[in-house]
Amino acid sequence: MTIDTLIANTIRADVRAIGGYHVADASGFIKLDSMENPYELPEPLRGELAERLANAVLNRYPVPTYATLKEKLCATQGIPAGYDLSLGNGSDELISIVAVATARQGERAVVLAPVPAFVMYARSAQFAGMDFIGVPLKADFTLDLPAMLAAIKEHQPKLVFIAYPNNPTGNLYDADDINAIIEALGDTGIAVVDEAYEPFARTSFMERLPQHRNLVVMRTLSKLGLAGIRLGYMSAHPQLLAQFEKVRPPYNVNILTQVAAEFALDHIDVLNEQAAAINAERTNMVAALGQLKGVEVFPSAANFLLLRVLDADKVVAAMVAEKVLIKNLSKMHPLLANCIRVTVSTPQENAVFLNILTASV
Ligand code: PMP
Repeated sequence: MTIDTLIANTIRADVRAIGGYHVADASGFIKLDSMENPYELPEPLRGELAERLANAVLNRYPVPTYATLKEKLCATQGIPAGYDLSLGNGSDELISIVAVATARQGERAVVLAPVPAFVMYARSAQFAGMDFIGVPLKADFTLDLPAMLAAIKEHQPKLVFIAYPNNPTGNLYDADDINAIIEALGDTGIAVVDEAYEPFARTSFMERLPQHRNLVVMRTLSKLGLAGIRLGYMSAHPQLLAQFEKVRPPYNVNILTQVAAEFALDHIDVLNEQAAAINAERTNMVAALGQLKGVEVFPSAANFLLLRVLDADKVVAAMVAEKVLIKNLSKMHPLLANCIRVTVSTPQENAVFLNILTASV
């Protein structure tokens, strides 16, 4: 028995056929490929956090309700009264949980999303045994509402993922279009509005939860400056949320994350100021990029910009040569030909990016 035979006999064919989620090795690089906040927590907050972490009770399981953490999230993140939260090890885990909870055994079930979209929607659907249907955006990356409504009618999806703003395009879809999709799904499908970039967009479907029984609003602390602790949260009608809670692994959020998140939420102003600084830098970058010939900048409400250049491979190679990591999206989807995505970072790092881009387009 060889390891290859063992794998062929045991591991699913569709899993064997795919590559892993690729994360570039970033050591020694300026990292502008993952939409992280470039700012760390300032002193003396880091010292205070160290003290809180030192007092975390590591020999016990976390308190399973995560009541204090949820209260702080509800108090700071505009969760409607009477609505509870479900927590995930990043919103990645929540995406997987909603897929597993809506999948069918021995029966076709569909996850639908406008594409290009965040890759984990399709991956999580696949791992849950669901079919993924991608409905192309229009060339300007707005929603093709008639195509979305026709696809919903045809495929009767259990889940529709809508990132608001979208990754990798950065734009906010028309809120009325999203509403029309939620209403078209009615009581046969759930709309997940993924607001990972809400700290920068400052517009949300959270307050609309009471209007729609089939709406889930998902967020993360990752883009706000806490990507390392891995904390996502989602809200929905309490009875629907209770179903997702059955699928969530108990204790999925570890106590170090819990303590660090509670601490950060006590100092949410610091993180919100960092997000505002990033937004101001986004405005500066858009202005500077507008001066460059051969570069098209798409509107962004997120902490990254999508650009179309004449030769994305050449630009990305120039960046790598100068130790700058950005994302080449050219091969992700036909709509993204010669597109690159860059995180908005500090003025210094953005200047490095702009200099290399200017020299390489
Ligand atoms: N949703 C969207 C739209 C994203 O872009 C990302 C991260 N790139 C996530 C969810 C996952 O975020 P996390 O798991 O860090 O919460």
